[in-house]
Amino acid sequence: MHGLMQDWPLTVDKIIDHASQWHPTREVVTRSVEGPIVRTNYGEIHRRAKRVSNVLKSWGVNTGDRIATLAWNTGRHIEAWYGIMGIGAVCHTLNPRLFPEQLVYIINHAGDRVIFVDLTFVPLLQAILPHCPGVERVVVLTDIDHMPDVTLPGLECFETLLEQASEDVVWGDFPEQTACGLCYTSGTTGNPKGVLYSHRSNFLHTLITMQATVMAATPNDVILPVVPMFHANAWGLAFTGPAAGVKLVMPGARMDGAAIYELLETEGVTFSAAVPTVWQLLFDHMRTHHLKLSTLKKVLIGGSAVPEALIRGFNDEFDVEVIHAWGMTETSPVGTVANMTPELKAMPYDEQMKWRLKQGVPPLGVEIKLKNYAGQPVVHDGSTYGRLMVKGPTVAGAYFKGEGGEILDNEGFFDTGDVSTIDDMGFMQITDRAKDVIKSGGEWISSIEIENIAMGHPKVALAAVIGAAHPKWDERPVLVVKLKPDQDQDKQEHLDFLVGKIAKWWMPDDVVFVDDIPLGATGKIDKKLVRQNLKDYVLP
Ligand code: ADP
Repeated sequence: MHGLMQDWPLTVDKIIDHASQWHPTREVVTRSVEGPIVRTNYGEIHRRAKRVSNVLKSWGVNTGDRIATLAWNTGRHIEAWYGIMGIGAVCHTLNPRLFPEQLVYIINHAGDRVIFVDLTFVPLLQAILPHCPGVERVVVLTDIDHMPDVTLPGLECFETLLEQASEDVVWGDFPEQTACGLCYTSGTTGNPKGVLYSHRSNFLHTLITMQATVMAATPNDVILPVVPMFHANAWGLAFTGPAAGVKLVMPGARMDGAAIYELLETEGVTFSAAVPTVWQLLFDHMRTHHLKLSTLKKVLIGGSAVPEALIRGFNDEFDVEVIHAWGMTETSPVGTVANMTPELKAMPYDEQMKWRLKQGVPPLGVEIKLKNYAGQPVVHDGSTYGRLMVKGPTVAGAYFKGEGGEILDNEGFFDTGDVSTIDDMGFMQITDRAKDVIKSGGEWISSIEIENIAMGHPKVALAAVIGAAHPKWDERPVLVVKLKPDQDQDKQEHLDFLVGKIAKWWMPDDVVFVDDIPLGATGKIDKKLVRQNLKDYVLP
């Protein structure tokens, strides 16, 4: 027997409709790409997004067409985003940090018809567009006074288009399963693969992020998404903000410590989200300049493991709680969050640290399990490793155009490519990516765990652990260190720092000092490049 409740398709245009009706004056503040801080609100964003829709319709854009953005976190980007999605077109967020040839591949693979671009990236587009014949128009997200003096096919000015367009358009006239967003994984292995979100999956993900055990978003919050909209939808924040009536503060092109600090303070930000490397920059900036934070309460950190020194530093010096989370493009992206339970809160802070360093528990709507290589379930004892599998309405069931073939196991779980443990409190901990794990004498060594501890040494700016070929053990760990400026290179002190904190047989066989540790397109250490740079390295 079917229930008798109304059929109300879960489409994301309803999110911005809701914001404009019930939180119309709530601000969206942007550090604009042109420079000044600009202010708008959900009412205005809603009206202008409707104009974007009409512009696209006048160009013959239909449901299912892919429309790309190559843009920072700004109010205009949000307008383009809802304008595209509202008429059932697919908003394809391009990551400008990818290599140009990867961007060309992605634009052509997606079949993007139009690209909305920030001024910053116009030169990049100029270079790659000759290789992207399907792109009909390029809309620069600026006004007529700032239009660049370039020739590009179908060049348009965002503000001029909006002035001329009507606000009268019907949104959401399609089923909730309609595709809504497209984001390619950065392709650390093989070509990038497209994750195609639906309206339903993004709507449900928004509800997941609003849970008190995830972001607990309310109109009393002021949220600054440092994580870019081109990195897994800014972890959902461009949906969560309007859904919960939150004031959003958009950092635009500047994500250095000084710029972020200024916005946090002047706009009264209470909550923010970013990868660890960004928080490290902010932390160092605040420390160097003896700054304090007056409104920030919580930061959500994910994308790669959070070093203990960062969690402690934020807590002890700035009274800010770091919440560790795990997710991936394929999971929309929220997968697990390490919120402290009553049992953990009852412990002294030092004892809680073990769990703060884990990636946490899935919220309602996400299922996880561990599987060994034989496909058997793995016990949840906090120490047995397994491949992390995930399932739910916000998890990819296949990649765009069937790339990668069948990606689910026989129970419908997606293999994340992460290796992890789950403990008896249900806390999941990533121990490594399957391809980064160091295989020594038939056992696995977690590169992440060693890196996190090594990163706590006061002289270390960045640390990475990779496996080096070994005649007897197969592989042995090597600690790669980028020192802070003007520090002397003393291998032994970095090894001594690890003593007592990791198992003896995990101790790296060597320390290699490098000038730089490369970061990938989403701001994480690019292990593949680190390995490539050291391909001629042999153990002493
Ligand atoms: P990519 O890294 O390919 O750009 P994603 O942003 O989707 O794409 O990355 C997802 C991966 O990042 C996860 O599979 C996991 O390996 C890693 N990751 C995410 N969050 C964490 C975390 N908190 N700790 C450790 N690893 C993490």
